[in-house]
Amino acid sequence: MDCSLTENEPQQADDKLRFGRLSQTRTFGDGGLRSWSQAVIAIIGAGLIGGRLAFEAVLSGVGEVLVWDFDRTEVENLGNQFGQPTVPKVTSLVERCNGVRLGHIRGFCEDIRHAGIRVLTGCDLLVDCSDDPRLAWSLTQISNGLNKPMLRPAVDGSGELELGRVLCSSGGAGGACQLCTFSLDDLKRHHQRMHCPNGGRDDGAPTLAGGPMGATISSLALLQAQRLVTGNDRELVVDREIIVDFSHFQLLDIRLERSERCLSGHRSWELADVDATVGEATLADLFDVARGEFGTTDVTLAGYQHSLNVQAACTCGNVRIAAGTEWAKTPVCNDCRNPMQWLAETQIDRINQESAAELRVLNTPLAELGYPDGAMFSARSPGKPVRRLLLR
Ligand SMILES: [Zn+2]
Ligand SMILES: [Zn+2]
Repeated sequence: MDCSLTENEPQQADDKLRFGRLSQTRTFGDGGLRSWSQAVIAIIGAGLIGGRLAFEAVLSGVGEVLVWDFDRTEVENLGNQFGQPTVPKVTSLVERCNGVRLGHIRGFCEDIRHAGIRVLTGCDLLVDCSDDPRLAWSLTQISNGLNKPMLRPAVDGSGELELGRVLCSSGGAGGACQLCTFSLDDLKRHHQRMHCPNGGRDDGAPTLAGGPMGATISSLALLQAQRLVTGNDRELVVDREIIVDFSHFQLLDIRLERSERCLSGHRSWELADVDATVGEATLADLFDVARGEFGTTDVTLAGYQHSLNVQAACTCGNVRIAAGTEWAKTPVCNDCRNPMQWLAETQIDRINQESAAELRVLNTPLAELGYPDGAMFSARSPGKPVRRLLLR
C-alpha cells in the first residue's frame, strides 16, 4: 500500500503544528490565518522598517512577500539594519527570510517605479516603507487604481524624537487616501502631510532613528497588515493614522477623512489585458489594440511612470534623436563612439502613432525602449474614457 504523503502534505502538516497557536489569536482567529497564508504583500523599501516587516511577515506565515529596494547596505546602516556592506538590501533580506521559511519572499533590486503594474495586481496590500515623498503620488495612484489598500509606516528621521506612525491609505475601497488632505502646493513641494518632523525629508539627509522605533513601527505595520488581510479588527486600520510617540509616551489615533475633492480623484483603473510581453509587443501593436478599443486612430499612448526621452547627448557635444525611457540602454555616439546620455528635458509623457513613426520606434519591442515586464499603458482618445492596457 502506498501511504506516502503527496508533495504538499508534509508542509501542510508542519504548518498546522507551527501556526496552530497563532491561529487562536484575536487577529488570526475565524479563519484569519488561512487568509494570511494566501496573502501576497508588496513592500517598498528593505531598510529600517521594511526589512523587519518583511521578515516578521514571512515568519508569521504570510503567503508571499515581494520587496523592492535598489539600495545596497552601507556600513552606516549596520547600527539599525540587518545586511552586509555593499550587498543589495533585498539580497540579504531574501536570504534571512529563506532561513526561517523557504520560498515565501521575492526581492527586486530595482526602483519600484520600474515595477510593472502586472505584478502588483497579484498583491493584496501595498506597504510603502520608503519614506520617499516623491513616491506618495504614484503609489497612492496605484493603490487607488488597483483597489489595494496601502500602509505607510515611517519613523521620525530627525533624531529629535522617538516617534513614528502608520497610516492607512485606501481611497480605492471608499476610505481616505493619504492625499485627501493635500493641496496642490503640498504636492508640488513633494511634502507628505507629516506628523513626523522632517520625516518627509527631501534634502537627502540620512534617517536618524534607532532600532527600537524601527522595530516598533514595523511591528505596528505588520499588525495593521494582518488586520487588513484577515478582516479581523479591520476598522482599527482603515481611515486611521496611528502615531507612536515614545518621547512623551503617547499613542495617538487620528481619524482620516475621505475628501471628495481629493487631488487623486480616488480613481480606480479598468484594465484591458494585452496578451503579449514587452519583449514581443511594440508600440504599433498597442496602437492596434487601442484602435480596436476606441474605433479611431486618434490615440495617444503613455507608459505608466515611463516618460519617453526623445534625444540623447554626448560629452563631445553631439546631440541626436533617439527614443527610450530612462531605463533603456542609451545610444552610442556616432562621432566618438561613447555611450550617450538621455536628455531628460526632452521627455514626453505620451506619444501618437505619427511621432512614434518619426522617431522610428513604432516596431521596436517595448523592452528595448525600457518598459518593464507587465507594463501598463494609458491609451487616450478625445472625448473617451482612458483605457489602460496591461501587458503580460
Ligand atoms: Zn484621497
Ligand atoms: Zn560623442
